Amino acid sequence: EAKKTRRGGVKVFQERMLYSRQLHNQMATELRDAIAAGEFTLYYQPVVDLASGEIRGAEVLVRWNHPQRGLVMPDEFIPLAEETGLIIDLGRWILCEAVMTFARWRETVPLSSDFRLRVNVSVAELQRIDLVDYVREVLRDSLIDPAFLVLEITETALVTGGDVETYSLLSLKSLGIGIEIDDFGTGYSSISYLRNLPVSMVKVDRSILSQSSGNISQNEFIAAVIQLIRAAGLDAVFEGIETKVQVERLLEMGCVSGQGYYFSRPVPEAAMLELLRNSVRLPAGV
Ligand code: C2E
Ligand code: MG
Ligand code: MG
Ligand code: MG
Repeated sequence: EAKKTRRGGVKVFQERMLYSRQLHNQMATELRDAIAAGEFTLYYQPVVDLASGEIRGAEVLVRWNHPQRGLVMPDEFIPLAEETGLIIDLGRWILCEAVMTFARWRETVPLSSDFRLRVNVSVAELQRIDLVDYVREVLRDSLIDPAFLVLEITETALVTGGDVETYSLLSLKSLGIGIEIDDFGTGYSSISYLRNLPVSMVKVDRSILSQSSGNISQNEFIAAVIQLIRAAGLDAVFEGIETKVQVERLLEMGCVSGQGYYFSRPVPEAAMLELLRNSVRLPAGV
């Protein structure tokens, strides 16, 4: 009887596997078609000077405009895109679209010279030896100064990187674009890599901030994180800022820039342009 149940369990398990593999394949096909059909759209979230509320940049965040399901968030399709290799084509579209969009902004709205356009790049993209050529081409075609572009790469991807990733990073940096560690504080236990990689900025994961609601020792922890990043000669940017109290604390601790729902959610291009056109100062800490 026990054996029977177990066999039944295995069968159910296999059916589920089969089902999920079918679903997986179906979604992969959908994703492939969606790239061909141009069903993706870019949202932008302002990166803000915490003291003044001035917009100092924007992070590009992709969404899938699904004909039936509506706006699909990246957590639902980026992992699949990475697994299937579709991220290469998608990532190229994102980079090109973002840079070309930015080139238009530069002609229509006032942007501070320290404005940075931040584009997320997956490790699979970094593993392509031709990534650098592609970035160089896009920059050349758009006539954008490379200094305006920052690529965000997750901590895990950076740390586990092999020769190709290191080659990509060094070549990208030599193009004059910035490299930023994304989701800092989630992926790795050693910090020595902070000093060894060709990066210039660190985006601290929102979990670090959200764990710190008011508690003194947690504030000290955040202060230590900021000091650590500074000691490595890098700039800290906090993501996931949701309250005025958080802005005030970060300012006290010497952090100058960040992003989060407190300032603005990610918005479509038209809304981002509106913010930029009016040189909007988002609510600041002081
Ligand atoms: P990420 O790069 O760490 O992006 C930050 C995420 O935090 C975004 O989610 C953003 O909407 C969200 N966020 C911003 N402020 C707040 C806040 O105050 N509170 C909370 N709770 N969340 C906040 P989103 O747009 O869903 O993107 C999720 C992840 O998907 C990104 O994390 C990134 O890893 C990936 N992703 C998004 N766009 C791209 C892309 O173009 N290429 C690649 N390779 N990955 C992307
Ligand atoms: Mg990011
Ligand atoms: Mg992040
Ligand atoms: Mg993230």
